[in-house]
Amino acid sequence: NLQHNTCAGCGAALQSEKQSEPGYLPVAALERSPIICQRCFRIKHYNEAASVVIDQDQFLQLLGSIGETDSLVVHIVDLFDFEGSLISGLHRFARNNPILLVVNKIDLLPKSINYNRIRNWVQQQAKLQGLRVVDVVLCSAKRNIGFDHVITALDRNRDGRDVYIVGATNVGKSTLINRIINDYSDLDNELTTSQYPGTTLDAVYIPLDDGKFIIDTPGIVYANRLTEVVPASFLATLLPDKMIKPLVYQLNAGQSLFLGSIARFDFVEGKRQSFTLYISNALHIHRTKLERADQLYADHRGEMLGRPSLAELEEIPTWTRHSLRVKPGTQNDLFVSGLGWIQINSDLGALVELHAPKGVKVIMRDSMV
Ligand code: GDP
Repeated sequence: NLQHNTCAGCGAALQSEKQSEPGYLPVAALERSPIICQRCFRIKHYNEAASVVIDQDQFLQLLGSIGETDSLVVHIVDLFDFEGSLISGLHRFARNNPILLVVNKIDLLPKSINYNRIRNWVQQQAKLQGLRVVDVVLCSAKRNIGFDHVITALDRNRDGRDVYIVGATNVGKSTLINRIINDYSDLDNELTTSQYPGTTLDAVYIPLDDGKFIIDTPGIVYANRLTEVVPASFLATLLPDKMIKPLVYQLNAGQSLFLGSIARFDFVEGKRQSFTLYISNALHIHRTKLERADQLYADHRGEMLGRPSLAELEEIPTWTRHSLRVKPGTQNDLFVSGLGWIQINSDLGALVELHAPKGVKVIMRDSMV
């Protein structure tokens, strides 16, 4: 008798009628102990993990339903792609529910960085985007840094409510939730060691010991991130895996930097100054004269200039050019969603241009570090 039974894995009500819906298990599998649904069973035993993502419309619908609940909303963003992964309209959908901002991947920044400064910066930027948050926590899900702060913030802000976890794709939501399952939830021990959530069809319910749930929602796809427009084979080069070594270049106006074959930075006008690249160190950097850059790209992209390869470039939109002016007396980053940023170190003012695949978000922002 399946009635009133829930899956020990995801908490869905068990049923034997519709295979495509949550909680399905074949009648024959009732002997299992603990009783888990077919989907959890597969994830557990075969690590069958099809990443599931939804588009903006579906996602907004889902967000709308969060507003009708009484819950804590945990929004995970990627520090390395902050503007690309922030869901700026989130507060409208969360309504009166508090939002806790968890900023992941801090392991990518150099150790010398002042975390308080980063937190202030994050708070400031979120506010600029109209996002009011109850707290900002920095962590690295992968390297297990700051996870105790995440748990403390959950405890402090949850107040006996359910927790909704929302985020864009690739921010590390699955990695973080796996940690939460291990440290915080009531899930059966055996299950918790499997490659469990983040890779789910719809929201997944992870039981907590007070009868409430952590609800993992699908990752939202933002098409204006470089990570979404390159072939999977190039992602490992594009996404930094360990601490970034910032690269400093002293440039004169009229000089260009190729960032692999994926983007190009031109220093068009301004006094000699230095620029610091915060991008994956797996990308090859090539400095050249601006006047030679177009020809060089035509002749050597995908080869001497480095990845992506010619074949990969076929699948990537061609470049558009962004012209951006830096006012004297300000400290700025030229931010390219999914790629990283170029810190402009002087406050002398400059005119710079960035060539990047069409559709990718390129903006000038206040310096993060
Ligand atoms: P999801 O799509 O949001 O569920 O993200 P995943 O958990 O699948 O992670 C996406 C990518 O980011 C993977 O390559 C992870 O290894 C990587 N990642 C996740 N957390 C961290 C982190 O704290 N630091 C770094 N450097 N990478 C991370």
